[in-house]
Amino acid sequence: MDRTQHSADWYKSRKADRHIAMSGEMMCKKCSMVKDVTEFGTHPNMLNGRRTTCKQCRSKETLDWFNNHGGKEFRTIEKKRKYKEQQRAAHPEKHKARNDVMNAIRKGILVAKESCERCGSTGLLHGHHPDYKKTLDVEWLCVPCHTKEHTIEE
Ligand SMILES: [Zn+2]
Ligand SMILES: [Zn+2]
Ligand SMILES: [Zn+2]
Repeated sequence: MDRTQHSADWYKSRKADRHIAMSGEMMCKKCSMVKDVTEFGTHPNMLNGRRTTCKQCRSKETLDWFNNHGGKEFRTIEKKRKYKEQQRAAHPEKHKARNDVMNAIRKGILVAKESCERCGSTGLLHGHHPDYKKTLDVEWLCVPCHTKEHTIEE
């Protein structure tokens, strides 16, 4: 019978396997902690049917992956979307008023001014509603003037 030369690694892994069989423990390749085999997920392709990294390390890896692959952006988008939804639910009249203005402009009923009605600035203009019930009664204000208007109001 041929005696195959095995590498030190092979012996080490054999020893590790025996250790598993006897003690029901494994050493995690990632964190080097010896843990119970139940702390390792099952893997059909691995020799002893177990993964070589513990569940804790694996879940951390998953989390790292999530954080590195758009997890953060995903969360901010979700936050913004939720905020918008909340605002819409809390102030349906505001949303309706804005919608009516957009429609009126599209139909040519309403014409958006080209400069702020307060300071004459020609930057980005907002349609401000002094009264949200009069949806087409808008004042065209630049962003700073509009912000000021609402700060005084509230
Ligand atoms: Zn581990
Ligand atoms: Zn202005
Ligand atoms: Zn306003």
